[in-house]
Amino acid sequence: MKNIILFGPPGSGKGTQAIKLAVKYNLLHISTGDMFREEIKNETPLGNKAREYMDKGELVPDEITIGMLKKRVDSSQNCSGIIFDGFPRTEAQAEALDTMLRESGNPIKALILLDVDDEEIVQRILKRAETSGRPDDSNEEIIRNRIEVFNSETAPVFSHYNNKGLAKKIKGVGSIEDIFRRLSVVMDEL
Ligand code: ADP
Repeated sequence: MKNIILFGPPGSGKGTQAIKLAVKYNLLHISTGDMFREEIKNETPLGNKAREYMDKGELVPDEITIGMLKKRVDSSQNCSGIIFDGFPRTEAQAEALDTMLRESGNPIKALILLDVDDEEIVQRILKRAETSGRPDDSNEEIIRNRIEVFNSETAPVFSHYNNKGLAKKIKGVGSIEDIFRRLSVVMDEL
């Protein structure tokens, strides 16, 4: 059972790499960003609430996010492992995740950080905006706010797992295949 957190700033390539890793290692891919976008598309009350935060580049409040995530994890008991993409994004979310997984006896095996610098991220997301249709991708001020939120609220999650000896870091710059190879090396060592 390999429960993995793919970690990194917005636009670091978590989504792209998580999909590839899920196929190669037979893992269930859970992306809280994708889940929120699905709720928004379906115009659910949760989606409408989440949109208020996402459009500004802020985090959706923990109680909403953790509740949604827990439901998804509880309904996937029989899978061979989960790759978490975009979760946890706060210390409280990390603690909630650890508690959830402790109950199931399958704790997080590793957190892998895709290391990409801020300027590269801004350029990547602006490029992605040409095709993603995401309101939070199309405005540089919102992108910079997302990076700031990452540095202040989300970066402590790295220390949370580093303190347990579970954090790994790889260079997140290069071709998709290069980065995937680096990730695979780390995965194969787990
Ligand atoms: P990116 O990694 O490019 O920012 P995501 O799809 O992971 O894209 O997230 C998009 C937005 O969804 C975030 O900016 C945030 O508003 C919301 N979101 C996603 N995951 C979480 C989370 N774990 N906690 C709070 N908000 C979240």
